[in-house]
Amino acid sequence: MSECLFCQIVDGTIPADIVARNERAIAFRDIDPKAPTHVLVIPTEHHRDLTSLAAADSSQVADFLALAVEVAELEKLGSGYRVVFNTGVDAGQSVFHVHAHVMGGRRLTWPPG
Ligand code: AMP
Repeated sequence: MSECLFCQIVDGTIPADIVARNERAIAFRDIDPKAPTHVLVIPTEHHRDLTSLAAADSSQVADFLALAVEVAELEKLGSGYRVVFNTGVDAGQSVFHVHAHVMGGRRLTWPPG
């Protein structure tokens, strides 16, 4: 998917501040952070959203979430963090390559705005 923004981050065409990776996923800082720590975790393989990824290969969801948890540890978010999947237009998804937002570093409000 050469036209996909996050696929271009995976292949290095677009630079990103990468904080961690495993065999099937990478984590990089959100360009417009909504919390003191805001990292995006994506599978290297292109799937448009969480529903599509889970339908294609549920084992990838495990690798992907393992990296989200590792990011929380690396970023020292032990006092609390949030993992969010915006899935679909009505949820505010704007980049259609599945990604988890890992956010923390301050007391987060609930429900989100
Ligand atoms: P969503 O709205 O859930 O699809 O989230 C997409 C996220 O991607 C937003 O939080 C954007 O700030 C972030 N984003 C867009 N372009 C980049 C980029 N080049 N590098 C890092 N994060 C980005």
